[in-house]
Amino acid sequence: MADLTRLTAAETAARIAAGEVSAVEVAQAHLDRITEVDGKVHAFLHVDADGALNAAKAVDERRAKGDKLGPLAGVPLALKDVFTTEGVPTTCGSKILEGWLPPYDATVTRRLKEAGVVILGKTNMDEFAMGSSTENSAYGPTGNPWDLARIPGGSGGGSAAALAAFEAPLAIGTDTGGSIRQPASVTGTVGVKPTYGGVSRYGLVAFSSSLDQGGPCARTVLDAALLHEAIAGHDPRDSTSIDAPVPDVVAAARNADVRGMRVGVVKEFAGPQYQAGVSQRFDEAVELLRELGAEVVEISCPNFDYAMPAYYLIAPSEASSNLARFDAMRYGLRVGDNGERSAEEVMSLTREAGFGPEVKRRIMLGTYALSSGYYDAYYGQAQKVRTLIARDFDAAFAQVDVLVSPTTPTTAFPIGERADDPMAMYLADLCTIPSNMAGNAAMSLPCGLAPEDGLPVGLQIIAPTMADDRLYRVGAAVEAAYLDRWGAPLLDRAPVL
Ligand code: GLN
Repeated sequence: MADLTRLTAAETAARIAAGEVSAVEVAQAHLDRITEVDGKVHAFLHVDADGALNAAKAVDERRAKGDKLGPLAGVPLALKDVFTTEGVPTTCGSKILEGWLPPYDATVTRRLKEAGVVILGKTNMDEFAMGSSTENSAYGPTGNPWDLARIPGGSGGGSAAALAAFEAPLAIGTDTGGSIRQPASVTGTVGVKPTYGGVSRYGLVAFSSSLDQGGPCARTVLDAALLHEAIAGHDPRDSTSIDAPVPDVVAAARNADVRGMRVGVVKEFAGPQYQAGVSQRFDEAVELLRELGAEVVEISCPNFDYAMPAYYLIAPSEASSNLARFDAMRYGLRVGDNGERSAEEVMSLTREAGFGPEVKRRIMLGTYALSSGYYDAYYGQAQKVRTLIARDFDAAFAQVDVLVSPTTPTTAFPIGERADDPMAMYLADLCTIPSNMAGNAAMSLPCGLAPEDGLPVGLQIIAPTMADDRLYRVGAAVEAAYLDRWGAPLLDRAPVL
């Protein structure tokens, strides 16, 4: 039998439904693959073999009884360690949550279980999702399966690496400034940030509440759509959840046709800071869209230049407030509680030991930006910039159906290269942050390898709020055209681990 770990999620589900293979066999094949390669990749922080095999067994039993299975029943998945999982460790890549067992499932977790998806374990991430490389994980970095000495992106590097290393056909990420799309870009996989409010944040440990958005990661556009459909939709437990029908992303992924669509190239996302091979592959992707029948125009979004500085006020401000809950009393780690120290002293010692340098930097930045006398000049000003960015998008989408850009300015950089230079690290999200600021939807998918280093380049497609289906329609068309051109999926060219 063909290697079960190389199948797409759609193929896997079809084989299970047809009885050609059992869900338990599929789960075991992936657990074996994890055992084989994860010592090198380090995509997982926690592998839940028993939980996965039990979930798979339940799917097989339902099938044996003649129950109709959902479109992803029995398909394994890697879950970013920022979603709560009842009784299964959830660390957010931080020492401060070491040993914490959540008493409840996130809505995303619950929906996955209800869909019969088999959760293999929890994936590595930058601590509290702050970073672009997974180097900020308290548990050590993840390697990029294309080159283990390079970063798999971040903060969701573990989820993306699990896909690229064939440890799972599906994964879940979260995207506050690019943490689904940038890892997808540098690993040659597909990642989608849905419209803000499209996927519930209940049980997603908060970093920056007005920007955080969970979303699907996969190796194909259709698989991402199937996963998107499984996790999206209104949730009364999340006050920012959108109470409206989810756009039909699966139908869109099956309707790969861009003829007559208008595509805007964001003028601001080009220039000398873009690696030559990234610009080259991006220009070719734009040409491809033209050949496929789209009308391509250049669009200027002048306020996008201010997205990054505004993001680094808003995200740390909200983080400083959200992370106040890690007080040594309620969750995880407690340091120095000898019966004599005050609660404040224990809190301080715990945070000193439990938070890493990037998290501390953001808490300090955010606390400063929110402090009395500075609030209007920093946080308030940044929120105004956010409105300007949303207006740029409105003006753009009055002219075009989708926007496109490179996902990130470079291919995967070497582990360590930017670790001591936060500003260089922050630049990885130059093209992704505007969509978090405005709340609209965006996708990254592979558009080839950069000639100079042979590493994957990502194409970003950006759609208006609640038009997530357009991402899949355009993405599927681009993916099909590349498959035709390349003769095989891009990941087939990744070195064998
Ligand atoms: N890299 C960005 C940051 O460090 C975005 C992270 C994210 O999307 N979670 O904040």
